[in-house]
Amino acid sequence: AKREGKNNFQIFDETLALGTEKRLNILTLLRADKSNSQYALYYQPICHIENKRVVGFEALVRFYDDNGCLIFPDEFIPILEETGMIIDVGRWVINECCCQLAQWQADGCFPQDGYIAFNVSAKELLQAGFLQGIKDCCQTHGVNPRHLVMEITESVIIDKPEKVKLILNDVREFGIKLALDDFGTGYSSLSYLQNYPFDILKIDKSFIDDLSENSKDTKITKAIVALASSMDLKVSAEGVETTFAYETIKSLGADIFQGYLVSKPIDASKAEQLLGESSVS
Ligand code: C2E
Ligand code: CA
Ligand code: CA
Ligand code: CA
Repeated sequence: AKREGKNNFQIFDETLALGTEKRLNILTLLRADKSNSQYALYYQPICHIENKRVVGFEALVRFYDDNGCLIFPDEFIPILEETGMIIDVGRWVINECCCQLAQWQADGCFPQDGYIAFNVSAKELLQAGFLQGIKDCCQTHGVNPRHLVMEITESVIIDKPEKVKLILNDVREFGIKLALDDFGTGYSSLSYLQNYPFDILKIDKSFIDDLSENSKDTKITKAIVALASSMDLKVSAEGVETTFAYETIKSLGADIFQGYLVSKPIDASKAEQLLGESSVS
């Protein structure tokens, strides 16, 4: 058993080393991209539950390496967060969202009450001048903040709950709507729903994946939807991949949804094409 243990340890060690090397490679790539020219925003449609009309998009960042290969955010966002580079990239993301929104609105293809949702990490939110930066972006591009949604996870709140509350209140006051992302994972304190100015609650994909008749997750999802509705929050289901999941969350009372069933995140030109069509099915 001891020898087995040692072997296991070696395997673990090698995997770890490999992981570290990969991280280092990615870090090198990120560092070399001084002007953020290798980032791109992809847009995943968010649809109305009843008619599947596009009500908005979630902006999701990607990085292209020197060979044009796509690197996904789960691989580089943690590195950007640890190094503090997320602040600069986050500014780029928000500016890009405003720029794209302004263009789509000018082209007349964007839904009247439509929005673009962007994701924000704790470090971004807590930096001095965070909101002012967003205000400047809105001003530069002539964007009304009511067409923006800021998504944060519960983990963003946990470290500095009072400070985060003040910032979120200001962001909401400016007119940007707030979504609590990945709800149901991690800390899931219901008091966040009560004490923070959220407009939208996004039920995490892990619940949507495990929906089946009378399953525990179905019951939990049902309870979450009921609770959120009673607090005047819009309920969004993310990671809807199947017609079954769609029908289930629809019957449970979700308001909006996103997922591969309708579309994966797509580049701006494909998103624009989608906007040209009046509804998706
Ligand atoms: P998230 O905010 O929870 O985004 C949802 C993720 O689920 C996206 O992954 C999306 O592509 C994926 N997804 C959507 N629908 C489906 C589905 O039906 N099936 C499956 N299997 N997956 C689906 P993505 O784009 O790889 O982003 C991963 C995470 O990276 C995001 O999770 C978010 O936390 C973070 N992220 C992305 N863009 C940004 C950004 O601009 N700033 C910050 N701070 N974080 C970002
Ligand atoms: Ca999100
Ligand atoms: Ca999410
Ligand atoms: Ca997530």
